[in-house]
Amino acid sequence: MAMQGICVLGSTGTIGVNTLDVISRHAEKYQVIALTANNADEKLFQQCQEYKPLYAVLADVDAALRLENKIAQTELPTEVLSGVESLEKVASLDEVDQVMAAIVGAAGLLPTLAAARAGKRILLANKEALVMSGGIFMNEVKQHNATLLPIDSEHNAIFQCMPEHFQNGLEQSGVNKILLTASGGPFRTRDVSTLHSVTPEEAIAHPNWVMGQKISVDSATMMNKGLEVIEACWLFNTQASMIQVVIHPQSVIHSMVSYNDGSVLAQMGNPDMRTPIAHAMAWPDRIQSGVEPLDIFEVAKLDFEKPDFERFPCLAMAYEALKIGGIATTALNAANEIAVDAFLNKTLAFTNIAKVIEKTLENTKNMTPDNLQDILQADSEARCISKEWVNCLGFK
Ligand code: NAD
Ligand code: MG
Repeated sequence: MAMQGICVLGSTGTIGVNTLDVISRHAEKYQVIALTANNADEKLFQQCQEYKPLYAVLADVDAALRLENKIAQTELPTEVLSGVESLEKVASLDEVDQVMAAIVGAAGLLPTLAAARAGKRILLANKEALVMSGGIFMNEVKQHNATLLPIDSEHNAIFQCMPEHFQNGLEQSGVNKILLTASGGPFRTRDVSTLHSVTPEEAIAHPNWVMGQKISVDSATMMNKGLEVIEACWLFNTQASMIQVVIHPQSVIHSMVSYNDGSVLAQMGNPDMRTPIAHAMAWPDRIQSGVEPLDIFEVAKLDFEKPDFERFPCLAMAYEALKIGGIATTALNAANEIAVDAFLNKTLAFTNIAKVIEKTLENTKNMTPDNLQDILQADSEARCISKEWVNCLGFK
């Protein structure tokens, strides 16, 4: 592969930092063209010193000014930009071959879409972008000949276990089920009657993975798995009935694909995001990721359970939103972002996250989105509805 220019959207986050770790092991193959963050100017400055990108973007204007002042005192080649349009600009630069989409939440949609429209290789961690815009996003990818590779460990595992031409239809390719694994998060076995009083500190303490706050809470409610079912439907051109969620507490099997000849292919490895990141960066080649080899004797035992939809109503709601179709998944994602934010800010009880989402779905008038504008409007309406429900429910 020729030298690859990379833009890392969300470089200061968990996925961003892991991506830079993989890049630093292969300086001869990958060049960092642009790094971006929301407002973490100090961390982005440190990354600029190490990776010397041509561009550094902060969504926040004041933070960008601070970074600009720091960069001006160095010999760095880095131009500092700010705002959403600049995120879109750096995701579509000619020098960029690959875009790591690792902004959290709906804020990642426009820059990731820009990468699709510029025909880039998109390494998709930002599942919310795909969940909220579904078919519209996939059409842009297709129309502009972009390459979409999953970073979510489960979807990356499924991709690795899929037959080559799966986009022609899973059934035609002999696939009869996708087995999407889930750790079950920190509350898999906790007494359900105590879930109401769960604190943000307890919710973000994930047993197997170190992740950003939002996805950690999503893992605790299992909305993360719900978003992943929706993500899998779009990525693998299939429907919910083809996807079975499997609770697998050890997080060693990252997902499986079942074929009609009886074969079940699994991708395994230590739970470390550098594996899917390195896989997608080098695909179809393989490169070192820095991840320790899996010691199966140490793992010794693999457990599997069916998901408990009563303990985890968010998972049931994601299936429900998929069934409704249209903008229901956009509303689901928006309501979840608002509710999780309120929970982290200690204005909403843990168990009311699901209630806010349920009420938002109930109060959303469904329609089929024709374009991006419809999606953005549905997102903003669902945010308004869910904010009202956050105020109304609080800690009740
Ligand atoms: P994080 O919170 O650690 O990092 C988020 C990044 O996005 C930061 O760089 C932040 O500066 C940037 N950002 C946040 N809001 C922004 C805004 N409004 N505008 C511009 N930039 C903004 O999150 P993370 O754990 O790295 O997750 C990133 C994405 O990857 C999420 O969509 C998550 O679901 C997905 N993902 C993460 C993991 C994981 O292991 N962490 C696994 C699978 C998928
Ligand atoms: Mg995942």
